[in-house]
Amino acid sequence: MTKEKIILTGDRPTGRLHIGHYVGSLRRRVELQDAGDYKKMFVFIADAQALTDNMDTPEKVRQNVIEVALDYLACGLDPARCTLFIQSQIPELCELTFYYMDLVTVSRLQRNPTVKTEIQMRNFEASIPVGFFTYPISQAADITAFRATTVPVGEDQEPMLEQAREIVRRFNHIYGETLVEPEILLPDNAACLRLPGTDGKAKMSKSLGNCIYLSDDADTVAQKIKTMYTDPNHLRVQDPGQVEGNPVFTYLDAFCRPEHFGRYLPDYPSLEELKAHYRRGGLGDVKVKKFLTAIMQETLEPIRTRRKEYEKDIPAIYDMLRKGCEDARQAAAQTLDDVRRAMKINYFDDEELIREQAARFAPSA
Ligand code: ATP
Ligand code: MG
Repeated sequence: MTKEKIILTGDRPTGRLHIGHYVGSLRRRVELQDAGDYKKMFVFIADAQALTDNMDTPEKVRQNVIEVALDYLACGLDPARCTLFIQSQIPELCELTFYYMDLVTVSRLQRNPTVKTEIQMRNFEASIPVGFFTYPISQAADITAFRATTVPVGEDQEPMLEQAREIVRRFNHIYGETLVEPEILLPDNAACLRLPGTDGKAKMSKSLGNCIYLSDDADTVAQKIKTMYTDPNHLRVQDPGQVEGNPVFTYLDAFCRPEHFGRYLPDYPSLEELKAHYRRGGLGDVKVKKFLTAIMQETLEPIRTRRKEYEKDIPAIYDMLRKGCEDARQAAAQTLDDVRRAMKINYFDDEELIREQAARFAPSA
């Protein structure tokens, strides 16, 4: 790991952040920030991207910008150590997107598996908004504008990173070495790659209503876990149960640490033993869910408390974001200068060009 690392990630302001965001990306960002092993860190609220599939509900996006900012601060992102900003306030990103569009084909965009799934989820098959269809290109602009080397995200973002890398390679090949090729940083724990929903669906997602939010109060969290999906064939305590595809155990994989047993479930030495008992039969869902609830409350309580503190001064948060946008704009403007120069559309700061053209048109003596 070098000090040259530049980290960038973001979230769409389509709702409050949930525990899937936390294990998929947010927890990693805070760890990276606290380790201090990087040159710069940018975290942004992707409001312009959120509008590509929420164009009819601008108020929803607007309201959730502050919710996401609060979630960031509550989780421990620190504006003194990372730049927090709002995507739409950086117009340089639109310009980069416009140029990158020349480097991507329609069929390449159609192959993106995450976008394919999202189109189905939103019933966009019959008519896909162009902005939504092309959001992987705008995401490449977000990443490259800040010369990001490292992008900590969940597994669903892999195709976006691959698209960004292709754009960088193509750009540098045609116009000369200008852009930095980013690398994805996936969670190292398999359960965190794509945390399932409380309904057992493949992905916890704001748009599916199957989330435990970081800001849910203790009662709501307890209630959501109590009613969450488990193995549907595990009807009686003595029945053998299935751990695979059972989100209660996936959440334990993502959040449980060895010391939790001592604190909340001392009759088991480890998660492996707990799983083995569930598989054999004789272990009820209620007991496992109680254990999970205790762990979740322990994890979420400090986040809730910090959020409440930040909620007391909302204008200060907008000030912090405004400052972040100014810093981010400066960084993006530098990259845009390089891009314009490389693409030969920098007419007025290139004295050589003006001299050359003058010579070309000079009457021959
Ligand atoms: P939307 O439904 O509006 O797309 P979302 O819940 O998918 O919202 P995003 O803002 O698209 O959230 O994703 C932000 C980040 O969180 C990305 O890095 C993504 O990989 C990660 N992420 C989102 N959901 C999960 C999940 N269930 N498990 C792991 N990571 C996740
Ligand atoms: Mg998403």
